[in-house]
Amino acid sequence: MSDALAAAQRELEELRLRLAEAQETIRAIQGGEIDALVISDAEDSEPPRVFTLDAADKPYRLLVDQMHHASAALTIDGVVLACNTQFERLLRRERQAILGQPLQQHIDPPGLPVFEALLRDGLAALAESEVMLRRADGERLPIVLGVRALHEGVAGVCLLVVDLSEQKRRERLIADEATARAILEQVADAVVVCDNEGTVLRASRAAHDLCGTNPLFQRFERVFALARHDAPGTRVDLDAVWRGEPLRGLEVSFDRPGGKRAELMLGAGPLVVAGGERLGVVITLTDITSLREAEDELRRRASELQAVDRRKDEFLAMLAHELRNPLSPIQSSLEIMNLQALDDPLANQCRDVIERQVQQLTRLVDDLLEVSRINTGKIQLQMARIDLGAAVLRGIETSRPAVDAKRHRLQFACPPEPVWVRADSTRIAQVIGNLVNNAAKYTEIGGDIGVRLECEGGRAVVRVRDSGIGIPQEMLAEVFDLFTQVHRSLDRSQGGLGIGLALVKRLVTIHGGQVEAHSDGPGLGSEFVVRLPLWDGERVGPEAPRVDKAAAAGPSLRVLVIDDNRDAAELLAALLGMLGHKVQTAADGPSGIATALAFVPQLVLCDIGLPLLDGYGVVADLRARPEFAETRFIALTGYGRTEDRQRSQASGFHAHLIKPVGLAKLKTLLRPPQAGEFET
Ligand code: ADP
Repeated sequence: MSDALAAAQRELEELRLRLAEAQETIRAIQGGEIDALVISDAEDSEPPRVFTLDAADKPYRLLVDQMHHASAALTIDGVVLACNTQFERLLRRERQAILGQPLQQHIDPPGLPVFEALLRDGLAALAESEVMLRRADGERLPIVLGVRALHEGVAGVCLLVVDLSEQKRRERLIADEATARAILEQVADAVVVCDNEGTVLRASRAAHDLCGTNPLFQRFERVFALARHDAPGTRVDLDAVWRGEPLRGLEVSFDRPGGKRAELMLGAGPLVVAGGERLGVVITLTDITSLREAEDELRRRASELQAVDRRKDEFLAMLAHELRNPLSPIQSSLEIMNLQALDDPLANQCRDVIERQVQQLTRLVDDLLEVSRINTGKIQLQMARIDLGAAVLRGIETSRPAVDAKRHRLQFACPPEPVWVRADSTRIAQVIGNLVNNAAKYTEIGGDIGVRLECEGGRAVVRVRDSGIGIPQEMLAEVFDLFTQVHRSLDRSQGGLGIGLALVKRLVTIHGGQVEAHSDGPGLGSEFVVRLPLWDGERVGPEAPRVDKAAAAGPSLRVLVIDDNRDAAELLAALLGMLGHKVQTAADGPSGIATALAFVPQLVLCDIGLPLLDGYGVVADLRARPEFAETRFIALTGYGRTEDRQRSQASGFHAHLIKPVGLAKLKTLLRPPQAGEFET
């Protein structure tokens, strides 16, 4: 065999081997046993070339596609090259809408700088950061992005996404729980959460402190034995609360284990979660012990003040009574002097002075007495349908002496027809009298006083105007307060206690009216305006019967005067004697009864505060006897409070009159009694 043949045989053998190798490779490739081919050239002059076979990627693609985390491959600009199914779900978008688009459009704008930095850093090494993803439906989702460079093929990054929403939810829950715990630790009120059967599930620190034990898993009512504040000793019934009914502001008491009682405000309401399920009941107990103690203290002080106020009223009433006693005989003396013409002009003048001063004194005493009635609201009105003009005129007349004394010009204007109002004419006259009296008092001699009555907007309006010293603006509202005096520095000769206007306001108010003061300032005069409701808008009709039934003095009567003030009794007896009546006197209760039994008077004028037996006892005794059926009993006293009048009436008096009683009034008393009458 030649060399050439041998070489050809070797080459053939080599080719056969390589063919077998190629056939084996194709079989392996077809059998799926090969992932990649590495082709290197025989001389090793070129680096080997690697060909990855498509079928070899499949498991990896499946792996990536089905993995739990979302992932994607991006270009270094963020354009999505590939993504897995989880990534589609995360964005809630179809893969077609994601691929080829920059991922930036799905990142919440505030997170964009972080994302850009991630892409940059990820090219160098693994980088991760939290950003907020915006889903197709707009929902925002917290995620962690892990980025690392793709080392093969394209220049880009591989993105691994971790959905943080569940983690965040847990964190929030934990934070909520911590907050709830902190609230329960720190809240000042006792807060107790129970299940629907009333077993304590949670309790605040204050609740632990209040009950002095650990209330958890015990029955609420066993640990907190609450009693109703409005019914001490009665346990609070919480059945309705366990049924889910809310309860607000129930005041309860709780005896703490240490023995100290706590006053609490209980509130309860169902604990309902988002789905509407009722998990239990939340109860709050607010400690109001110190509030209650403060209230009790206030109440105690108020009642102390009331007691002081009552004592003051009693004192004023008593003082007025004591001041009236001496006034009564003085007035009687004056009446006697008036009946006997005095020749001496000086004596006449003195008598006039005394008369005026007694009137002034009587007014002061009356005011003093009224103040206690103002304070206790015990002014009783004798309401009737009256012509306001007539009452106003009567008020002006009572102040006439004060007006005349200072030589003021007084003008009165009123509509020609009657102005009907529902009112107590005596009290209205008193109101106008006070206002005109003040106008006279606070106006220099020779001033002008105007009283005008008119109807305005369905109301009767009385204006009392003067040209006097006026009232500063800031005092206009205050002048109606009790004991307020603007011109304290004035000469006190006019007298006054700062009661008149308070009385005016009170009287007008209880008539349903208003009074206000106007003045342009000091020296510019004042105006007081009284407004009263008209008689239901109706302007005509008969006037109500007058309460004061004046009766002409009849024939001589037997009169018994019982008064421990001898002067008063004697003078009254003398006065009645001069009017032609037979009079006897007695100075105490028992001798009054004895004299009455012997004398059988037709009229008894009886003081109340008598030695041994008071006036109430005397009249009760005498009226029980048939021989006094025709006798008229009149209480003549210094006590003018409502309760005094009521007591007189209840004891059997036919009238209750306040001393001093003028002659004119006395004359009206001298008549037989009428059934059921009671005059004050
Ligand atoms: P007083 O007994 O002091 O007159 P009043 O309550 O009647 O008490 O009046 C309160 C105060 O209002 C008076 O002290 C006086 O300063 C002021 N006042 C009342 N009426 C007038 C008026 N017509 N002009 C000026 N001041 C007045």
